[in-house]
This record gives sequence, C-alpha cells and structure tokens, in this order.
Amino acid sequence: MREQLAAMHKEALAEFSRTNGVESLNDFRVKYLGKKGSLTAILRGLGALSAEERPLIGQIVNEIRAELEGLISARTAELKTAELNERLASERIDVTLPGRSRQLGHKHPLTLTLNRIKAIFMRMGFEIADGPEVESDYYNFEALNLPKDHPARDMQDSFYITEEILLRTHTSPVQVRTMQAAEPNQPIRVIVPGKVYRRDYDATHSPMFHQVEGLVIDKGIRFSDLKGTLQLFAREIFGSDVNIRLRPSFFPFTEPSAEVDVSCVMCKGKGCRVCKGTGWLEILGSGMVHPRVLEMSGFDPNQVSGFAFGMGVERIAMLVYGIDDLRLFFDNDSRFLRQF
Ligand SMILES: [Zn+2]
Repeated sequence: MREQLAAMHKEALAEFSRTNGVESLNDFRVKYLGKKGSLTAILRGLGALSAEERPLIGQIVNEIRAELEGLISARTAELKTAELNERLASERIDVTLPGRSRQLGHKHPLTLTLNRIKAIFMRMGFEIADGPEVESDYYNFEALNLPKDHPARDMQDSFYITEEILLRTHTSPVQVRTMQAAEPNQPIRVIVPGKVYRRDYDATHSPMFHQVEGLVIDKGIRFSDLKGTLQLFAREIFGSDVNIRLRPSFFPFTEPSAEVDVSCVMCKGKGCRVCKGTGWLEILGSGMVHPRVLEMSGFDPNQVSGFAFGMGVERIAMLVYGIDDLRLFFDNDSRFLRQF
C-alpha cells in the first residue's frame, strides 16, 4: 500500500508539472482530490486496512492531499495574476494618443494681403479711414470732378439703386468725406481700404473687389513725395529689388496723373508671359489731387497740395502669390484657400 501511494504521489507530481492552464489544473484536481478521485478512494478504503496500518496510511494520504491542494491553490493564484496582467496589458488606455484636433480656419489670402498693405502704410504714418459702400452719385462722382455727362463715368459702370444712389465704384468718395470732415487746409494722411463694385467679370475683374486708396494733403506736398511713398510701398510688398516707373495717365480727380508700374516680380524685369515681355506690371493709379477737388471740399489749392493713389487688392495679391485668375479668390474652393 505504501509503495502504491508512493507511485501515485510521484505520478501526481509529474502530471501536475504538465498542467498548463485553468482547465488542465481543474482536471488534475478532479482526478486526485475529487469525489471519485484516486486519493479520495484510498481514504474511503482505509476501513478495510488493519488497525496498525490505518493511521499510518491515513497520515500519508492526508500529507499528499495537503501538498497537492497547496500546489493547486498556488498555481491557481499564479494563473489569476497572469490573466489579470494580460487584461491590464490588452485593455490599457494609451494616453499618448494625440487628441482629436479641431480644424481651425485661417485668413483669406485677400485679407492677408490687405493687412500687409495696411501695415506698410500705417508704418509710414497713415491712418485708416472708412466709409459707406452704398454711396450717393455726388460723393462717388461729382465731388471727384466727374459731372453727370463726364465720359470717364463710362469706365466705371456700376450698380445703381436709384438715379442718385449706387454701390460705390471706388473708395475715392471716402477721400472726399475725409476732406469735408477735416478742418480746411489741415494735413491729411489716410488710406481707405474697402469693397467696391463695378459691372465687370473676367479672369482679372470681379463685380466686387477691394481697393486701397491713399490721400495725403499738406503744405508743399510734391510729386516726388508721391513717387517716394509708392516706391517704398512697392519695395515693402514685393521685395527690396523692385523698381517703379510712372507713366502719364488721366484721372478726372488728379492732375497730373500717373499709372504706376512695378518691375515684373516674376522675371525681375527681363520679360516674361506675366508681364507680356515688357518687364513691367501695372499696379496702381495715382496723381496730384486736382485743384478743383480740393476746392470742392473746402481746401485752398493755393495753400495746400496733395497726392492720391488707388490700387486693387486682388491685383496685388495675384502678383504676391502668383495667381493668374482673380475668380479663384471668390470660388471658396478649400483646396485653393488651404494653400495660404
Ligand atoms: Zn515678367
């Protein structure tokens, strides 16, 4: 009987070492310690043994049982710990994952360009003036030396609301309003950024576009002041290596008047497709404020003089960013807008 027990003990230990999980461990316990298990059967059979053998064998069986139970509970604890660790590993929250980012918009290329233009002139001491987009015929034309029958009105065919009210065709009416609001003959140095409206629509014209006009009035303002101001502006916005040139032109509200060209920003003046081989790009119109315009706003042309200029913001932005169709600015195609 002792030999039989010793063999079973040895076999049980060998079998235990082969268990590899909860299931096989359970089978092992049933096989040896269960109701119909081998050790249980021996304990039940103790009664058949002699009185001397009974306690001895009983003790051995209980020792083996205690040993196996100890092994099983230790291994069960190990398995539980392993399972817990595995779950902790697999269900771990990765706090290093980046959060869901919010898509932020950004400024439109025209706003960016307008802000740059404003900043350049503000550094030169200009103030920013503002005025209505729905304007009277008087401010839009007449006070700018453009009477009703003036042929230059045709260049600015606009959107009329009534005979006397229209969407402004340029920001020049704000110049008149600024002069009228000022003390006569006092210095003025303003730029007027804003939306203007004309009945045009093609690759370089839009029925709504943006202008920045400038007006400087003071004692002794000369044409060279105009040229120096615009030269500085051109170099600030397009680069320090650009030059400007002035060509005689006509505007009813300035005399003399000049178109201002900048040396081509694409080819540096050598001649290319953008500048049509000339090496120059037209960027704005300008001139000395017409004495009649000064008079109409209560200024004395014998005491003060001034210059004015006006540029299209879209035109400047197209040159700064190398865009060949103005309509792209207003299509709201995010593939285009994302690039700025
Ligand atoms: Zn060119």
